[in-house]
Amino acid sequence: MSKRKNKTYKTNKNNTNLSRKRNTKNSPPASSRGQKNMTAEVTCTGLTNEGKGLAEWKGKQLEVPQLLPGEKAEVTVTKQGKFENAELKRVIESAEDRVEPPCPYYYECGGCQLQHMSNNAQAGFKQKTIDSLMKPFRKPNPILMMDHPYDYRNKSHTTFGTNQQRQVIGGLYAQNTHEIIPIDRCLIQDPKADEIVETIKDYMRNSKMQPYNEDTGRGFLRHVLIKVGKVSGEIMVVLVAASSEFKGKNKFVKTVRAAHPEITTMLLNVNKRDTSVVLGDQEKVLFGKGTITDTLCGLKFEISAKSFYQINPSQTEKLYGKAIEMAELTGKETVIDAYCGIGTIGLVASKEAGKVIGVELNKDAVKDAIRNSKRNGVKNARFYKGDAGEFMVEMAARGERAEVVIMDPPRSGSDEAFLSSVAKLKPARVVYVSCNPDTQARDLKYLVKHGYKVEEIQPVDMFPQTYHVESVAKLTRK
Ligand code: SAH
Repeated sequence: MSKRKNKTYKTNKNNTNLSRKRNTKNSPPASSRGQKNMTAEVTCTGLTNEGKGLAEWKGKQLEVPQLLPGEKAEVTVTKQGKFENAELKRVIESAEDRVEPPCPYYYECGGCQLQHMSNNAQAGFKQKTIDSLMKPFRKPNPILMMDHPYDYRNKSHTTFGTNQQRQVIGGLYAQNTHEIIPIDRCLIQDPKADEIVETIKDYMRNSKMQPYNEDTGRGFLRHVLIKVGKVSGEIMVVLVAASSEFKGKNKFVKTVRAAHPEITTMLLNVNKRDTSVVLGDQEKVLFGKGTITDTLCGLKFEISAKSFYQINPSQTEKLYGKAIEMAELTGKETVIDAYCGIGTIGLVASKEAGKVIGVELNKDAVKDAIRNSKRNGVKNARFYKGDAGEFMVEMAARGERAEVVIMDPPRSGSDEAFLSSVAKLKPARVVYVSCNPDTQARDLKYLVKHGYKVEEIQPVDMFPQTYHVESVAKLTRK
């Protein structure tokens, strides 16, 4: 049985008592580990790049989640090895920027980190983060924020299990743990997804369908992944199960579809491994075509269960619009769309380019990209499966040319193989889209050292309520 402790936050602004239960499975109370658990009064002096409050205590810098600059607060400090772990206990003097987090699970979930910050303060925090990381290059433009910074995620992911009363629950793992917090509504997700998950929970409570138990290896349903086409309204439901034997399949499909006629396809994905990776390799379509379609920047895209598709489509349109503007296309250029996913950026760019070459590691995404170019009648784009770095090395070795490279690597950023090939291919412009400005700054440094100049940086808020910052940078050859 996991230990839980009650937590009370008080702000003197509205004097609300935000009683929360914090999940402590992986970090039991300090006393039980024979560690010192101290209460300290601190003043917050700034924020980390992850939105945690910085406060000095006994000559050390504490990082306190949910604490804001200027605030005075009581915190619980626990020594964990060489480090001090700090938790907010009570805000004594609250900042103007503090707001009541609208989500009841905010303090225990960990999926969002900034709900206690006003939208203006979130914009300021993100701007400051990107400004400071990009200081060696140039001052970024003002960040493009979202008018309604909730309900935006088009993809939801729910983990199933049972509570101590052996009732079926579904929700998210509490941060850094494998304990599920039951969640009925996640405010940054499309509400439709939560409604479908509720139906599935009800179905399980009234049938023999069992959630998978990580400890015993028994049971069936591990996760449910839902993808929503925000423009098309099409919905994909993927059941991730521990076994391919789906007893009661027809009844399940019939019941869930009857409650949600908006579901256009349902799949069974089998994941037998003991892993934190959600999707397994085996996939079976239960009904529909196994993919959904959505419209982005005026083009239609087919999305499969495994392929990457931007999770905030309205902000993506702003991001891509800026990326294409930065590419300065005149209809003649050869454009490389590296780390292209299902081909979205490249296909949007193809209208204004001579030719587009896309490269992507995930084979399902490449298939989607090829289908997507046909579906949109694009004749000047080719997509290849492979490592972007290796692909570029080969292109450079063959002496091929490209005027523009658009790159959108994962959080870990690009690699030396890729960047050194860019330096060899010498495109006139590089447009670097990134969901992690830390690795973007690292890679920009390499490109600047190898003949490029950073001309413009545009941050976009793709992930409101979280500390993540997306940004697109334009580089030209010196
Ligand atoms: N440009 C796309 C996808 C960006 S996400 C979009 O906007 O939707 C990053 C993509 O890089 C993912 O699709 C991932 O599968 C792919 N990827 C990760 N490592 C890669 C590598 N080494 N070479 C090529 N693609 C890679």
